[in-house]
Amino acid sequence: MKRTAGQDRSITRQWRPATQAVRGGTWRSEMGETSEALFLTSGYAYDDAATVAARFAGEAEGMTYSRLQNPTVQMLEERIALLEGAQACRTQASGMAAMTTALLCQLSAGDHIVAAKAAFGSCRWLVDNLLPRFGIAGTTIHAGDTAAWEAAIRPETKVFFFESPANPTMDVVDIEFICTLARKHGITTVIDNAFATSALQKPMEFGADVIAYSATKMMDGQGRVLAGAVCGTSEFIDETLLPFQRNTGPNLSPFNAWVVLKGLETLDLRIFRQSENALKVAEFLETRVPRVLYPYLPSHPAYALAKKQMKAGGSILSIELDGGRAEAHGLLDALELVDISNNIGDSRSLMCHPASSTHHGVGPDTRAEMGVGENMLRLNVGLEDPQDVIDDLDQALTKIGL
Ligand SMILES: *Cc1c(COP(=O)(O)O)cnc(C)c1O
Repeated sequence: MKRTAGQDRSITRQWRPATQAVRGGTWRSEMGETSEALFLTSGYAYDDAATVAARFAGEAEGMTYSRLQNPTVQMLEERIALLEGAQACRTQASGMAAMTTALLCQLSAGDHIVAAKAAFGSCRWLVDNLLPRFGIAGTTIHAGDTAAWEAAIRPETKVFFFESPANPTMDVVDIEFICTLARKHGITTVIDNAFATSALQKPMEFGADVIAYSATKMMDGQGRVLAGAVCGTSEFIDETLLPFQRNTGPNLSPFNAWVVLKGLETLDLRIFRQSENALKVAEFLETRVPRVLYPYLPSHPAYALAKKQMKAGGSILSIELDGGRAEAHGLLDALELVDISNNIGDSRSLMCHPASSTHHGVGPDTRAEMGVGENMLRLNVGLEDPQDVIDDLDQALTKIGL
């Protein structure tokens, strides 16, 4: 393998994000391929027994087993770290594998975590159901209530865990405020940055410690593979996360890593175009439905903060109707172009009813405290011409009498 300029941090750090997304982290094999090679291998063969021993002893560079290292996966990890402005990154098999790894690698029985009430359903399940089974207590708060963060801190609080914008309520929280407070108390912040990605929002610039991703969403961007990533300092990744990951094995497959590498090449293009499209669709919906939740609409409660923290509003918006589940399901069933699907970040426009899909599992009480009503629908706006998406929503709303 030969180094390209893409492997030299002193060079790649100077590149602008669109260049980093196309070339960052690239190694080239003896074949001189332009597109990153896919190393679909679990093991590696050695020239002699002494080489094996030296590699396992950490005295020689080189790969030993794909749960520990894989060239295609490493290219992706270097590229994501670079885009995020992080010292290091490790990837996992899904966003939830990334969240679980980011939390379990650093928490022990007796520790305490403070998390946002409004979150992806499975993220809430980790805090409410999984961590307590291992003696890790959790307090969930309204993340927008800045005083609530400080009030929830206990001597044993180790982690603050939240997302912004949040899924599917689109809550935008003050990342800088929360990270500054955490630093003051020696608490590690773990931020789920799936909705914005580094292209729109870099939490590390606001003092975040650990960024965890569902790379399934905007990073792949075309609805093909599941993937996750965790970014942090070299110390955190090497000394805290890696011992956990290497021994428990939530690793990303080389094939999926390769697909996400290809996805990242167009991340910048896609997310800005999808944000532009989403804003147009949100503006249309504001004329037709009672409530539209989109960070870049002036009607959003945290519009000023979103403008300060994010470069654009992202591809996702939520709406609230006046009717209940029947009306929301009716709108889904009336769609002709937009698919009924609970995925997001895809280049296709997709709509779902969170209460009966992504947030079914957390139960009605948790949904109520999160603000996920039976009247809520979430829309991922894709790369289609936004007027076609608007026309489809228009006919569907008309069909159900709105
Ligand atoms: C989808 C999602 C996850 C989970 O990611 P998977 O790749 O589906 O495991 C976590 N957090 C947020 C905000 C998400 O949207």
